[in-house]
Amino acid sequence: MSAEKKIALVTGGARGIGFAIVERLASDGCAVVIADIIKDVAAESTEKLSSRGIECIAVTGDVSRPDDVESMFKMAGERLGTPDILVNNAGITRDNFLMRMSEQEWDSVLNINLKGSYLCSKAASKGMMKKRWGRIVNISSVVGVMGNAGQANYAASKAGLIGFTKSLAKELAGRNITVNAVAPGYIETEMTENLPGAAKENFLKIIPLKRAGKPGDVAGIVSFLVSDGADYVTGQVIHCDGGMVM
Ligand code: NDP
Repeated sequence: MSAEKKIALVTGGARGIGFAIVERLASDGCAVVIADIIKDVAAESTEKLSSRGIECIAVTGDVSRPDDVESMFKMAGERLGTPDILVNNAGITRDNFLMRMSEQEWDSVLNINLKGSYLCSKAASKGMMKKRWGRIVNISSVVGVMGNAGQANYAASKAGLIGFTKSLAKELAGRNITVNAVAPGYIETEMTENLPGAAKENFLKIIPLKRAGKPGDVAGIVSFLVSDGADYVTGQVIHCDGGMVM
């Protein structure tokens, strides 16, 4: 991280992988904005960090709603400053087999995981272009690379994020903005907590490192991608999956 303090906005930053990213970027020296959908949860996570002396604010809204995104970025700008770093982490699953998948299940996953990243990147890139510096990291998934039965909506959203990452990387490189993706595998969070035991065991069978990932494993990659050490890295998809997909 460079000497000048950077401002990082992490969507879905109140818990799970997002919160680990917020904690890691704060320990790297960033001021952090937790952008999340539930006000109380975001406020609670912010208090935890503020009590440790970290410069941190919460902004609440739904990343799939243009008005919410506009107001979250406006509030972040007014209270802390224009974000230099954006991590598009907010994501949901609504699993079902295609024949049973409702249009609502399809739309909600695509709207939050993919459209949300488009809206937030558009809002963030304005300030980054002016500063001629920016870092965008999109949290994709190995499922976007290899597919998964019962997750056609989720896989489409995460594969879409990879194409989005590469296109933005080409579009924004001239303004010194890098855009990369991280593709986590099986990471222990509330999202994966309720997976059936058999599904968890099956994952472990195909992970060469023989353990589930931790939110901090993903946060470490994000920390690298936004650091000065990754100045010459853009348009890449870094897997964080214990070797599951190679
Ligand atoms: P969690 O469900 O634990 O956390 C997601 C966070 O995003 C929650 O705080 C959630 O709020 C918030 N969120 C959900 N919808 C919105 C929205 N519309 N607007 C703003 N915030 C929202 O998920 P994980 O930490 O496990 O996952 C984080 C990211 O990593 C996701 O994009 C996920 O797809 C990806 N990923 C996770 C893997 C895993 O194994 N866990 C593997 C591969 C990728 P709320 O509290 O309301 O739910």
